[in-house]
Amino acid sequence: MIDQFSKEIHKEIHKIAREEREYVADLVQRLVRIPSPSCEEGAVISLLEHEMKGLGLPEVFTDSIGNVVGRFGSGKRVILYDSHVDTVGVGDPACWKTEPFAAVRRDDIIYGRGASDNKAGIACMVAGLKILARLAREGDFTLYVAGIVQEEACEGLALAALLEEKSIKPECVVLGECTNLAINRGHRGRAELEVVTRGVSCHASAPERGENAIYKMTPVIEGIKWLAERLAVDPFLGKGSIAVTSIDCATPSLNAVPELCRIYVDRRVVPTDTRETIAREIDEIARFTKGEVRITEYSRPSYKGFAGKREKFFPAWTVEEDSPAVTRAQETYQALFGERASVGKWVFSTDGNYSMGIARIPTIGFGPAEEKHAHSADDQVRVDDLWKSAAFYALFPFVYSS
Ligand SMILES: [Zn+2]
Repeated sequence: MIDQFSKEIHKEIHKIAREEREYVADLVQRLVRIPSPSCEEGAVISLLEHEMKGLGLPEVFTDSIGNVVGRFGSGKRVILYDSHVDTVGVGDPACWKTEPFAAVRRDDIIYGRGASDNKAGIACMVAGLKILARLAREGDFTLYVAGIVQEEACEGLALAALLEEKSIKPECVVLGECTNLAINRGHRGRAELEVVTRGVSCHASAPERGENAIYKMTPVIEGIKWLAERLAVDPFLGKGSIAVTSIDCATPSLNAVPELCRIYVDRRVVPTDTRETIAREIDEIARFTKGEVRITEYSRPSYKGFAGKREKFFPAWTVEEDSPAVTRAQETYQALFGERASVGKWVFSTDGNYSMGIARIPTIGFGPAEEKHAHSADDQVRVDDLWKSAAFYALFPFVYSS
């Protein structure tokens, strides 16, 4: 339950957050104006480092992969906030109504690439630190705010690198990914598979002399369609899915039988689809075709040259609605805004696949903006979401540790 101390400070935090409304809106605009595709986040990290150093925090640092972290407090209960600072590309600029990196503010909405996913999140978390610095009161918590790199390319990779390198052991992680101010408590996971069949090339005028690698792939594709109808369903997260997303082949010419065929498969998983059950599916496919099947691997050096590597299996995860993290988040929201937050899930995958899915650290999401605007040419965030999120981020550690 929320104690008397937290009750007193929630009004103060609410007031300071309102006063910081323009600060956080301006910070979102400054962040959006610096393009930061995955592995090119250096400039945006520098801005955040400078911003957090200006708040007089006891510790601000960047780690080896290039995440930026600010710490507030030194109490027993360790909480980590995570928002990523990289974005996807802009796609066709003609689809945008505003210039993607102009961060246009119109009718109290800020538009631009990364506004929703996830620059508003990191701006609000930094604003939360500013509120805490202004409040000048410490609770029995240590709060780390992390601006994470390479999430769009390989979610979880850079968060894992941070926790391992710095031996930070949070008991709760809060993701700033867009939730439209709801409390999210899970999402499906995913795996990326590559299947290869090999044949024997020959002149296409006499195909019987060779073995067509594409024909060998046909039963694999049929098998995947068969499997798609039979995947596990989770009562909260919904059904797993599987889809062939790419096909190509190696052939000496358009008058030759191809010697190699390759497909990529996107597999969305629910919590009962573990790394082991996916491995069994893979074995099944391999037996079926004598093909080569593997989970693909991500390895791209960070902007600092750190060579992270991760197999592309990202587990699904949920935390219970009555878990301490969700309950404390609900109390925080209620104290600030006088009503209950809705509780939901993401359709997309986040760093939570590592924090909860692998490291088993209770993880929730709370953030500004709507998931439907993420990665779209209509990328945007409402300014009113910003100060509210900042207030939530400032109060939550007090409620959690009380
Ligand atoms: Zn995101």
